[in-house]
Amino acid sequence: MNARVFRFAPSPNGPLHLGHALSALLNAERARQAGGRLLLRIEDIDTIRCRPEYEAAIRDDLAWLGIAHETPPRRQSEHFDDYRAALDRLTAMGLVYPAFLSRAQTKAHAADPAFPRDPDGAPLYPGTDRDLDAADAADRIAAGRPYALRLKMAEAVRRAGPLDWSEREEGRVPADPARWGDVVLARKETPTSYHLSVVVDDALQGVTDIVRGRDLYHATSVHRLLQTLLGLPQPAYEHHRLILGADGRKLSKSEGARALGALRAEGATPEDIRRLVGL
Ligand code: GLU
Repeated sequence: MNARVFRFAPSPNGPLHLGHALSALLNAERARQAGGRLLLRIEDIDTIRCRPEYEAAIRDDLAWLGIAHETPPRRQSEHFDDYRAALDRLTAMGLVYPAFLSRAQTKAHAADPAFPRDPDGAPLYPGTDRDLDAADAADRIAAGRPYALRLKMAEAVRRAGPLDWSEREEGRVPADPARWGDVVLARKETPTSYHLSVVVDDALQGVTDIVRGRDLYHATSVHRLLQTLLGLPQPAYEHHRLILGADGRKLSKSEGARALGALRAEGATPEDIRRLVGL
């Protein structure tokens, strides 16, 4: 049997915190138990917020924690052509359209508590431009208007048929991608999106097992849909508990969660980190 392949896939847009440590340590543990491989993937499609020094810090932190991964890592910013090829296939299937919602409209939707939302709490795109005339859309793009390329969700779901995924502690879980509405696959200034690049890379890297935080549980529905439309294999999933801050909320870089590097500078050992994340 081929070795199972795991990956830790951080975004280098800030220092790693305890939530990342749990993810990385669990991936290493599962790979070890399975006699499998562990890859590192640098998810840096947001070339404005991601920085090389954060990537260097990620590698230092992993080495310090004693996590051995294969090198070199795959850096998403070096593979935009792969994502564009996948996007072209979905476009050729008639499943993609440009949407030109202005920031003001998006803000108004976000401010309206009654507006329908996706599983992450973001306002659902109302489908305004789904049936826009192709010539009209081309004119707006030529005029330099910002746009997002969106998936025609209802049609995509119809073509893919019923979907589910394998979740470590739960067995088969029914996927419900429609809850996300017409998800963004790419933007004018970024030729891909998290959802698109993650499914393309997991397939290209032969990833068989995805171990990541519970915050991405519902995103798996979109990933299974894209995998099915693109004819990609389906990995097995494990969404682990999140490490919560003192306020009971998920740790996040933006809220200044304690960085592993800072804990280390204060004298914490890798053993302390394992204890802090409950391993
Ligand atoms: N890059 C994502 C993050 O840092 C993780 C992606 C994934 O594991 O699918 O949250």
